[in-house]
Amino acid sequence: MIIDTHTHVWSFPSYRDLSQHIKTTEDLIAFRTRYPELYNCSLTEDPVDNSDALIADMDKNGVALTLVQARPGYVTNDQVAQAAARHSDRLQAIARVGHDQEAAGYHDDPGPTREWAPEEIERCLTKLKMKGVGEIFIRSLTNEIHPERIANDLDGLMKVVSKHGAPIQFPTAWSQFPGGLFYGDPLWVDEVALRHPKVPIILTKMGRSVGRYFDSAMTVAMRNVNIYFDVVGTNPQHLRFAIDKLGPHRIMFGTDWSATWRWISVPATLHKLRMKVLDDANVTDEERRMILWDNAIQVFKLEEEAKKARSVFRSAAE
Ligand SMILES: [Zn+2]
Repeated sequence: MIIDTHTHVWSFPSYRDLSQHIKTTEDLIAFRTRYPELYNCSLTEDPVDNSDALIADMDKNGVALTLVQARPGYVTNDQVAQAAARHSDRLQAIARVGHDQEAAGYHDDPGPTREWAPEEIERCLTKLKMKGVGEIFIRSLTNEIHPERIANDLDGLMKVVSKHGAPIQFPTAWSQFPGGLFYGDPLWVDEVALRHPKVPIILTKMGRSVGRYFDSAMTVAMRNVNIYFDVVGTNPQHLRFAIDKLGPHRIMFGTDWSATWRWISVPATLHKLRMKVLDDANVTDEERRMILWDNAIQVFKLEEEAKKARSVFRSAAE
């Protein structure tokens, strides 16, 4: 039984079938520059809820419960909450800010987004009852490059998540989206983790199989016990090294399922591709149980939700 901690919901009408455009991870990375007109649809079209397709993929792959967050572009936290509410026994929502700029390009002045972010996250964690904060591409909140100045700019947001004991995700390495690559090296997270020791910080993608980003992620994680990883895009060697050095309790399963990633079919479908990394890293049964299930429950406080999702999933499978 699996909990997927990393997915992005909502899509666009032109993304209804991308099976001919995206087959491999390399197709995905090149999507924006290879099909600029199609990419731009994500900025001009009204978003549509694609959570039924997510549930179908979860059913096929043994995923009982999934955490959903907004895809890059003009998708609101309220829309994400709506999608999760339609499948309340299988989906739980987490919040994002700045993901509009992730897709459309970052504003020169990050000030206004930085001022607004703490109150929006507070609203999501209280009124919308979200379980944490999803991937924050921090260029939307800062244009500083010194770690202490970056941490100063993130203080307002981090104080809110710390107050609620909620976890937060920061992405590592590259993405298909324009700009902000500098912040994909997570060395700057060290200062943020030091200042906010009660906040579980998840470095998503754990360097995405790139050695220099993985080395930075490991260095930060070994110094700070509040750092966690997810397995999206990693390789068996990095996963094995991280388990051995940090312990299996610091790593969670995720797919990065989204309107674009869901079309991956070569060498395997997205869920199968992510699971294969665990097989190839020779994870033990106990490590597997922690990575696929226990750690997500502990970090995102999903005790009740996981119990319910498991029984709903089991009775549907019978
Ligand atoms: Zn993601």
